[in-house]
Amino acid sequence: MTDSLKGLLIGCGFFSRNHLHGWAEVDGAEIAAVCDLDVSKAQAIAQDFSIPAWHGDASVMNAGDFDFVDICTTMDTHETLVAQAAAAEIPVIIQKPLGPDFATCRRIDQISREAGIPVMVHENFRFQKLFLRLRDILDSGEIGETSFGRLSWRNDIDVYTSQPYLLKTERFMIMDVGIHMLDLARFLMGDADAVTCLNQSVKEGLAGEDASTFLLRHKNGSVTAIDISYASHRTPSLFPQTLGVIEGRGGTVQILENEVLRVHSGGNIRDEKIEDDGRDWTSSPWTQIQDSVPRTQQHFIDSLCHGRAFQTSAEDSLQTYALAEAAYRSAESGRLVSFDDLE
Ligand code: NAD
Repeated sequence: MTDSLKGLLIGCGFFSRNHLHGWAEVDGAEIAAVCDLDVSKAQAIAQDFSIPAWHGDASVMNAGDFDFVDICTTMDTHETLVAQAAAAEIPVIIQKPLGPDFATCRRIDQISREAGIPVMVHENFRFQKLFLRLRDILDSGEIGETSFGRLSWRNDIDVYTSQPYLLKTERFMIMDVGIHMLDLARFLMGDADAVTCLNQSVKEGLAGEDASTFLLRHKNGSVTAIDISYASHRTPSLFPQTLGVIEGRGGTVQILENEVLRVHSGGNIRDEKIEDDGRDWTSSPWTQIQDSVPRTQQHFIDSLCHGRAFQTSAEDSLQTYALAEAAYRSAESGRLVSFDDLE
């Protein structure tokens, strides 16, 4: 007998293995069943992870057997699945991007609020050890109030073989990677309310952009510059590293290659190397991302059990998705777009 919360994982594709490895480590929860439209995928992964049940239809959540659902499908399916979970009164953790556009994200949040069903976005970058440590340094006051940030994600990892739907995704780079950077910018620098953005399609034959460069105006007066690209060729590849700098009024933290934070304060400099967690199921180059998955899931379960708000609730994440929407509108119009322009 166990009093763990019982979860249903929906979507047994590329990234779901990381979810299942993660759930196996989370205190207070277990996955009781998996589900995929392709039931043979659900069966195969259930057997790999010794999960007792598998299904081909998400309506199984109506059976009353589950305390939460973990939605690991692509964004086009999210609104329908959240509505099903809300109707069944089951809390949700759902992969990013929450929805394909801001209007959909707003509807998802509305569904969640009207049903009184908590929804958390699985936004795992802020749960990377490096960014948790960086947040601690900022909270300690060591570099003072933040004034400028730069976050840079540039590599040429072949995302197209493992996630072929990305070739045809019209809102591609900002929704796939930009969302993580926008969330990180909010996590590290505070909320923002205006964006300028330029998009590029560097690789031929893509439906959307594979490189974006943008500037955020934060409500506290600070500025973050973000540049992201899947068409940036370096040896060795920098995937999946986010590099950059955070400047405060009294010091600076550089985010350097290979998970090093270089802290400049009080005329001194020190390096902090952030080691990975050493899990036996993680593998290079995905380690940092994989390590962040169980931490994200544990935050969901702990918050659920204690009735606390999720850091990345659907409601909170509307701020992130509004920035993404503003970025697309800025790229189209060539202008700075603020939240007021989205009304
Ligand atoms: P995928 O296409 O490989 O898998 C999705 C699976 O969901 C498919 O097997 C599909 O059959 C199934 N599915 C779709 N609709 C369904 C429904 N209504 N009911 C049941 N099953 C359904 O996708 P993926 O690459 O695993 O990505 C899933 C999500 O994870 C995406 O939103 C992606 O952006 C996200 N992702 C996040 C990270 C991260 O670091 N946070 C990394 C990679 C992918």
